[in-house]
Amino acid sequence: MAAKLGIMGGTFDPIHYGHLVAAEAVRYKFGLDKVIFVPSGRPPHKKGQIITESRHRYLMTVLAVATNPFFEVSRTEIERKGYSYAIDTVRQFQRIYPKHKIFFITGADAILQILTWKNVDELVRLCQFVAVTRPGFNLGEVQTNLSLLPEEYRRVIHFMEVPALAISSTDIRRRVKTGEPIKYLLPEPVEYYIYKNNLYKEEP
Ligand code: ATP
Ligand code: MG
Repeated sequence: MAAKLGIMGGTFDPIHYGHLVAAEAVRYKFGLDKVIFVPSGRPPHKKGQIITESRHRYLMTVLAVATNPFFEVSRTEIERKGYSYAIDTVRQFQRIYPKHKIFFITGADAILQILTWKNVDELVRLCQFVAVTRPGFNLGEVQTNLSLLPEEYRRVIHFMEVPALAISSTDIRRRVKTGEPIKYLLPEPVEYYIYKNNLYKEEP
């Protein structure tokens, strides 16, 4: 069987169980050999928003995946200059893993933006997309919107229901700021990393 590689991109500010459960579910269902988490450098869709220093987001991601033998973390986007675009990342992994079929994992919220992604025509030739459910996003509705997309895009987009975890990084940052618990929303080492480094205390 052909080798398969998953790419899980995100800001991971911070990484949480929603990301991890989604990546693990896709890995199992699609028989991926591994999933590489790619913390973004400067995401174009979060322009004007202040995000945590990349070294912290990278280290939290490393801590979070440490117990999963199928998960790895890449520094490629945080080391690349300028904005982070999926196309540059996919091209790079294609070069490193020329025999692998690449599966790009995103939330169903993100997949709807696909038409706005840089070089989308090349992107849909290079990889498959797995859009996972996320609370607040009705899969049926997303699929209806997708039906408006050209066939060559729809062909490479797969949907998958994962156990719905109503967790977001935005909510975790808000909780830290107001002193609410974040326990059980993310891996414990990440929780301790946040407190140790005083993250999310200031107004972003
Ligand atoms: P923020 O609230 O800062 O936007 P986030 O929780 O959405 O953070 P991102 O780093 O933006 O996290 O997400 C990376 C990817 O993971 C996106 O494709 C997003 O749709 C997906 N994702 C995030 N949270 C969940 C979740 N609870 N369930 C499934 N997918 C998720
Ligand atoms: Mg998000």
